[in-house]
Amino acid sequence: MKTKKIGIVGTGPAALMAGTRLVENGFEVQFFDQKKAAARKFLVAGNGGFNLTNSEDCIDFIEKYDHDFMKNAVKKYTNEDFIAFLNKIGIPTYVGSSGKIFPERGIKPIEVLQNWLNELIEKGAEFYFDHQLIDFDPLQLTLQFQNNAIHHFDALIFALGGASWEKTGSDRKWQSLFQSKSIACLPFQASNSGIMLDAFDVVKEFEGEIIKNCAVFSKVVRKEGDLVITKYGLEGAPIYAVNKSIRDGLKTFIDFKPMLTFNEVLGKIQASKNTTEGLKNLKLPKSVLSMIKASIATREEYLDVKTVVNRVKNFPLSVDGFRPIDEVISTVGGIDMHEINENFQVKKYPSVYCIGEMLDWDAPTGGYLIQGAVSSGYTAAESIINLISVN
Ligand SMILES: Cc1cc2nc3c(=O)[nH]c(=O)nc-3n(C[C@H](O)[C@H](O)[C@H](O)COP(=O)(O)OP(=O)(O)OC[C@H]3O[C@@H](n4cnc5c(N)ncnc54)[C@H](O)[C@@H]3O)c2cc1C
Repeated sequence: MKTKKIGIVGTGPAALMAGTRLVENGFEVQFFDQKKAAARKFLVAGNGGFNLTNSEDCIDFIEKYDHDFMKNAVKKYTNEDFIAFLNKIGIPTYVGSSGKIFPERGIKPIEVLQNWLNELIEKGAEFYFDHQLIDFDPLQLTLQFQNNAIHHFDALIFALGGASWEKTGSDRKWQSLFQSKSIACLPFQASNSGIMLDAFDVVKEFEGEIIKNCAVFSKVVRKEGDLVITKYGLEGAPIYAVNKSIRDGLKTFIDFKPMLTFNEVLGKIQASKNTTEGLKNLKLPKSVLSMIKASIATREEYLDVKTVVNRVKNFPLSVDGFRPIDEVISTVGGIDMHEINENFQVKKYPSVYCIGEMLDWDAPTGGYLIQGAVSSGYTAAESIINLISVN
């Protein structure tokens, strides 16, 4: 009897994990990608930190995702499962700062990818590059590519990525195709992005400086860490953590002295000769002093110690916008989560699955994005394994 054949479009981590699980279970798997080689964004991630996942325990880990389907997927295929898989394909890992999991020092990103591809090829997976998806039939289960080749499958998995770093192939051009099949898509927006600040001229001279140990918060989230001053504004994990609050129009603030209470800061300033002296005694960097001073409009306000303390503990971020979408680490938007079920199966077309960053979910950097991609891939593959017998 003929083996069941699954077509996967995309070769990022979501696609590769779905394919891995399927070939392990005897399915014939064909991957297609419009680029000349696999997983370009995965390699771009490798050029930076390359946090493959995070060592955080499961309860805290799943809270990083903003959608139940992603939480379920990460419970089903955890960080420990992914680490065990990486070890199995010859990629030892270690825990770095903030619990991030990296490949052992000396292992290049391309080696991680190559080991993964070898594992898939050894188990019979086939890869077709330079194949841009131009159409698909979600009922007949066919894929059509720019060379007009039409392939037929027993199930289709799409893992087409988000909307940043277009040169890696994640170019969001597939959206209109999905809309034409009545699969709703939401506009893409920047996530895990640096912010541009109004009136940022004040600290331009401090470009490259790191503001250490502060907290950025809104009424729904608070994240401590370091901020990096750039020529346009601020970058850093605490800024990325409030991206959603900014998108939702919530007010966001910096606490430059998270280890001290409001009254402790007040006490320190009051115990000093004057406010300027008091701010110096708080050992705030010059960039922060400039920001605080620039944010206080009048001498009267500056003389009111509580106003100054408020700027130290609750400095209001006057955000001008995010970085251009092509530059950001990840995006939200894409396929509306209402279109799929918890198995990442498109509700209207049960033999069609969408996984990874092409779906509208959000998580912070630090390994959670790649983990989300692979967990969704694993979950979709499990669903196919349960629904379709191999022969
Ligand atoms: C600078 C940077 C650093 C990052 N660092 C990290 C990190 O350290 N840790 C972390 O967890 N995450 C990180 N990420 C995010 C992570 O890389 C992505 O979330 C992840 O790659 C998403 O995986 P995916 O499989 O969903 O999609 P992608 O990896 O984006 O893959 C999508 C694939 O689909 C293909 N495709 C798209 N349209 C078509 C079409 N029409 N026809 C055929 N093929 C098509 C593309 O060519 C591409 O290969 C980083 C991202 C960036 C940009």
